[in-house]
Amino acid sequence: MPSMKRNPCLISACLLGVNCRYDGTHRALDPKLITKLTKELYLIPICPEQWGGLPTPRSPAQFSGGTGRDLIQGKARILNEEGEEITHYLLKAAKEILKLVGLFDIKIAIFKDRSPACGVEQVYRDGKIVSGEGVVTSALRTRGVKVLSGDSL
Ligand code: SF4
Repeated sequence: MPSMKRNPCLISACLLGVNCRYDGTHRALDPKLITKLTKELYLIPICPEQWGGLPTPRSPAQFSGGTGRDLIQGKARILNEEGEEITHYLLKAAKEILKLVGLFDIKIAIFKDRSPACGVEQVYRDGKIVSGEGVVTSALRTRGVKVLSGDSL
């Protein structure tokens, strides 16, 4: 039987039902949509906040002074609810995830919007939802990866 090659696609693990969010929950997509995606794409689940070394559950975090693109240029930070800076965890995660982009020749990702790591069109900054992208999204786009929001599927 001929095998059909599925293109590799990074996906936020919480969109697949993995309980990796800051509060130990997930934000799974509709099960029928997940089944469709698994047939069309070779899904590679990642959770940047965990991969960067943060525990689950953890304190929620948001940008301060800018968004993902600014942060990569050293012009923004990510702070948790206690005011502690966690920028370095997410920069580490972005570095690790970029290794996968080269290894699997990844051209597409589906991410959970509004997260400081995975945000696609919006993120939380200084207590408000603003237009912008997360740190990992920004790093992936710099490498030419098309990043889609799970909300837009
Ligand atoms: S949005 Fe990204 S960093 Fe946050 S829990 Fe989901 S996969 Fe992890």
